[in-house]
Amino acid sequence: MITYANFGIDCSSDDSNLMESYNEFRARLSDFCVDDDMQLYQIPIDSDEYKYAQRFAIEYPVNDYNDANDIPYMYVTESESTYTEYDELDYNKASAYLINFWYFAYDYDDMSSDEFVGFCCDKPSWRIEKCTVQNRNYMIPKSEFGRKKYAKLMLGYAASDEVRKLLIEEGLATDNDFREVTTKNGSHVCYQITPTNKITGFLDYNNGKVVDCCANCGMKRYNPVSEPYYISEELCEQLNGLNCTTEMEGPILENEDKDYDDELSTSLEPLYIVNKTVYELLKKHYPRMQFIPILPGDE
Ligand SMILES: [Zn+2]
Repeated sequence: MITYANFGIDCSSDDSNLMESYNEFRARLSDFCVDDDMQLYQIPIDSDEYKYAQRFAIEYPVNDYNDANDIPYMYVTESESTYTEYDELDYNKASAYLINFWYFAYDYDDMSSDEFVGFCCDKPSWRIEKCTVQNRNYMIPKSEFGRKKYAKLMLGYAASDEVRKLLIEEGLATDNDFREVTTKNGSHVCYQITPTNKITGFLDYNNGKVVDCCANCGMKRYNPVSEPYYISEELCEQLNGLNCTTEMEGPILENEDKDYDDELSTSLEPLYIVNKTVYELLKKHYPRMQFIPILPGDE
């Protein structure tokens, strides 16, 4: 397993000292450059180069004042999110797996994801912004799912009739773990994976940060947590075949104190987790199905 941090550098100055630093950074880290035009770098966090890049980020922070006033600047940023690459060993020793299907099945052009969501409760009362959750059945055009066996939806994940049947026949899921996805006319397309078994404490265990909470119903909003993910034995004992977390994640809030428009709402989603039995069965039948390994955390 290798975890990478994401860095960016930008320089608009022709000051010779800054240019020298800029060129030094680019030369030293050229092996880690993933986008030359945008000057983006992916650097393993256990490397000397990571410490080097971090020193730059501290020395040359983003300066909004310079930006706003067109004053020449140079800055280095480290993104909050990291990227983790896993190997076979990680998949073998994982205790559970996060569903991470890559094939997208898109909504209707004339419908947004707002069509499927509503407020968390009757009297939503959030500090930063009103959050929403999916509370209606999903609808997608038949052609979007097509012959796919599984897909990512704008909210959650979809499985074909075949995948659903396999899991139910093997006793790893029940009818209630799926909700039908239809076209606007109500004709059957596929199933959304909607696990009835909810596990509590996964994001807390992974140092998830609560950024907001509904004072009325108590729903918490977590910022997404960076990989790698870990799971305790105690949490593993809560797992059925298909599971989701009680904790709800939303996109990262860049600035918690920013004044948001009252109308703005962001939908929160749980994480979808399968146990090892489901993972092994699905990989046997669908070798290219995508999951993120969740490693045992008690080692
Ligand atoms: Zn609420």
